[in-house]
Amino acid sequence: MNKRIAVLPGDGIGPEVVEQAVRVLQAVAQKYGHHFEFYHSEIGGAAFEKYGKHFPDTTKELCSQVNAILLGSVGGPVAESHLLKWQNCERNSLLQLRKQFSFNANIRPLFLDEKLIELCPLKRAAQYGSLDLVVIRELIGDIYFGKHERSISDGIRSAIDVASYDEKQIYSVAKVAFELAKARRGKVTSVDKANVLETSRLWREVVNEVALSYPEIKLEHILVDNCAMKMVQNPWDFDVLLTPNLFGDILSDLGASLIGSLGLLPSASINTGSGFGLYEPAGGSAPDIAGKNQANPIAQILSAAMLLRHSFKMFEEASAIEKAVGSVLKNGFRTRDLWFGSGARSEELLSTVEMTDAIIRFLGDL
Ligand code: NAD
Repeated sequence: MNKRIAVLPGDGIGPEVVEQAVRVLQAVAQKYGHHFEFYHSEIGGAAFEKYGKHFPDTTKELCSQVNAILLGSVGGPVAESHLLKWQNCERNSLLQLRKQFSFNANIRPLFLDEKLIELCPLKRAAQYGSLDLVVIRELIGDIYFGKHERSISDGIRSAIDVASYDEKQIYSVAKVAFELAKARRGKVTSVDKANVLETSRLWREVVNEVALSYPEIKLEHILVDNCAMKMVQNPWDFDVLLTPNLFGDILSDLGASLIGSLGLLPSASINTGSGFGLYEPAGGSAPDIAGKNQANPIAQILSAAMLLRHSFKMFEEASAIEKAVGSVLKNGFRTRDLWFGSGARSEELLSTVEMTDAIIRFLGDL
């Protein structure tokens, strides 16, 4: 199969880990007889340096001409967010990219194999075993896309961010969650703050309406604060977590800690109308470790596997990458983020590139 992929490395660890994901995709192409063409372009701070814009027209144009997009991360050190290069970087680039192509549903699988239970910080993990839940996060509504304003009156500074949802936005992402639950354990947990927010009351109403078409799926509603607590107490109780944009952002980072590291958590952002997809790790640009060959490339590599599955329908190829990643972890290969605290003697500390080498080796052995 011939496919064109836009590659947007972005900032921080983005270029390092994206390069590794491209290597894995090339290995897959060779193994299965596909032809992938990779087209690189800038986004985020890297684009600002070259074009004076975080999401330049050349990048927009490229993204409209490919079969899928592989993205690293954008943004600089939080302490430098006042600099022009980083000011509103994520809002001007990533959020615009999501909006431009209507990537309205974000899928974040939180999977921890039984044999890797040592990566889970919860004491009860040993007793409960593998963890397998998926966060479906609405991606182009909510407070991220409302009005953002600053003002000053009588010397007092104030700020306003507006959250809004319409029923169509909720309906399309809720359908993704129910469809996915059909192929899994048949349970959707919808997250909101309906005791306080009007957007949440609408969210709950529409989710209930969608549920009428899925009588076989068990639906429960949970307030976001309670959900955070339950994710730590008993995450095994969840199957598909359906969330508005802001709550999903926060809860999926919590979820990342349950499977050991943000460096393990991939994501797919899908336009539910056309099926076009953007694939990126759930974490950020990790400026604290950028350029050190220390970042865990697995989240980016698993995002590439999601690209193969969702955009190209290459199911066997996607599973092969996932199996290879499972094998390196089971065999004790660890990047630094998975190293501290585990202390097992059989483990080996690897760099970003070495971890990818190991994954490609296991891929070849399958
Ligand atoms: P972050 O996700 O970049 O990092 C949080 C912690 O996780 C850091 O200690 C980092 O070293 C670690 N980490 C993240 N990915 C890792 C990986 N692959 N391997 C090993 N460790 C990893 O969050 P932050 O530090 O709060 O934000 C840094 C920048 O990233 C900010 O500018 C923020 O706006 C941006 N950001 C971008 C995205 C995105 O592009 N999707 C998402 C979140 C944050």
